[in-house]
Amino acid sequence: MTPLADVYVGLGSNLADPVVQVRRALDELDSLPLTRRVAASRLYASRPVGPQDQPDFINAVAHLRTRLSPLALLDQLQALEQRHRRIRQRHWGPRTLDLDLLLYGNETLKLPRLQVPHREMESRAFVLLPLAELAPRLLMPNGRRIADLAETLATTGEVEVLPGNAN
Ligand code: AMP
Repeated sequence: MTPLADVYVGLGSNLADPVVQVRRALDELDSLPLTRRVAASRLYASRPVGPQDQPDFINAVAHLRTRLSPLALLDQLQALEQRHRRIRQRHWGPRTLDLDLLLYGNETLKLPRLQVPHREMESRAFVLLPLAELAPRLLMPNGRRIADLAETLATTGEVEVLPGNAN
């Protein structure tokens, strides 16, 4: 059996009532096979990456413990996106639910379908701020501290905690 792994998943939505989409997905992550949700960050609001003529995103990060292999977990995350009827007309365009596998234990994977750590996570405030809230002492496989990475992006002001949404 696959050993138990600590995993971090990034959630994002900017369509069809994004707060509801993200809250629902946080619950659904707790129902995946061989998986339970250990913790979830607060919800954050961020300006979209790329085209600006679209609504702001709602983001969060979930900490899971799973016995699913990395690819089996990716399959489950993609199925969950589909159940939210994810709409993707264009790259970096609006979407009802985006799930990114950020970290899978201390593993580094470069598969055709899956790169872990997620390739853009070190430069994205909407990933690092909620991740640092959950796991400030966590290290990337390259040894960088999540809290240090988040600190360099925290002052950009492009991401803010949504008021009144403690989980
Ligand atoms: P995106 O547009 O960011 O949702 O990208 C989706 C594609 O990225 C899918 O085809 C995945 O197979 C691929 N992918 C590669 N690495 C990851 C990852 N760490 N988490 C989620 N999707 C990934």
